[in-house]
Amino acid sequence: MKPVIALVGRPNVGKSTLFNRMTKSRDAIVADFAGLTRDRHYGDGKHAGRSFIVIDTGGFEPEKPTGIVAKMAEQTQAAVAEADVVIFVVDARAGLSAQDHDIARYLRTANKRALLAVNKAEGMVESPALAEFFELGMGEAHPVSAAHGQGIRSLLDAALDDF
Ligand code: GDP
Ligand code: MG
Repeated sequence: MKPVIALVGRPNVGKSTLFNRMTKSRDAIVADFAGLTRDRHYGDGKHAGRSFIVIDTGGFEPEKPTGIVAKMAEQTQAAVAEADVVIFVVDARAGLSAQDHDIARYLRTANKRALLAVNKAEGMVESPALAEFFELGMGEAHPVSAAHGQGIRSLLDAALDDF
């Protein structure tokens, strides 16, 4: 069985860009505006000779249980349930948000191995801007740039460590 990796995080942090990077495809819809990918989206990836499946999700907003937003939260929870490991994506440029805290809290209850990827971190690997994300209680932050292909290999090394 291939390990399944779910990408979760609030809209616009770069999940779909990371999905494309991990699958080397252009299948996921990458939007210049928040929340276009409404549904789960599956892709095949390969890293260091190991195959995996990655799930892209549309977003997460647990505080507003109505309409499309609730549907997106549902999809995220379904993806987490299907996954062996979760990559929780946050945005180094936007900084920590209340929604990030909500997702971290949800992931703690989900009882799944979860890694924290701090995306849009091109040129800020040693930056103090990354330190605030330790507050999420997700352990070591993995700085990545999905758009520039930085940090992806070491993120995948960590994600696939147990498989
Ligand atoms: P999603 O809503 O989480 O799936 O986010 P998207 O993948 O659609 O990306 C949202 C926006 O962030 C797009 O404009 C992307 O081009 C941009 N983006 C994604 N990854 C990076 C990155 O590593 N660095 C920068 N600067 N922008 C990024
Ligand atoms: Mg997306």
